[in-house]
Amino acid sequence: MSDSPCTACGACCAGFRVSFYWAEADDAPGGTVPVALTETVSPHLRCMKVAERSGPDAWRCIALKGRVGKQVACSIYPLRSSTCREFDPYDARGRPLEACNKARARHGLPPLKGRPS
Ligand code: SF4
Ligand code: SF4
Repeated sequence: MSDSPCTACGACCAGFRVSFYWAEADDAPGGTVPVALTETVSPHLRCMKVAERSGPDAWRCIALKGRVGKQVACSIYPLRSSTCREFDPYDARGRPLEACNKARARHGLPPLKGRPS
């Protein structure tokens, strides 16, 4: 984690609605995401509640702590959904994801160049 750009960023957690299969919430057997932090999207989908409704943080996840672009942490890190766990800033070849850099740009953060070697 020490060379991850994410702990000093958080732009994706503040820039996208994060949805996932409903049974990943902890009111289903084996689910982990605290259901109180989620909203229903459809019969099969839930999303993280948002803490902001305007500006660059318009989709800020309620579980995100800290200041975007400075220092952030996920308050439910071990319990987060597969959507969060699978979102990596880099693809398999180490190139930055377009969605990541778009989220960073919305917060005035420079684009990632590639996975540090
Ligand atoms: S926008 Fe990219 S660098 Fe920032 S927290 Fe998300 S994945 Fe990490
Ligand atoms: S649950 Fe954690 S990792 Fe997922 S969007 Fe919210 S703050 Fe980010």
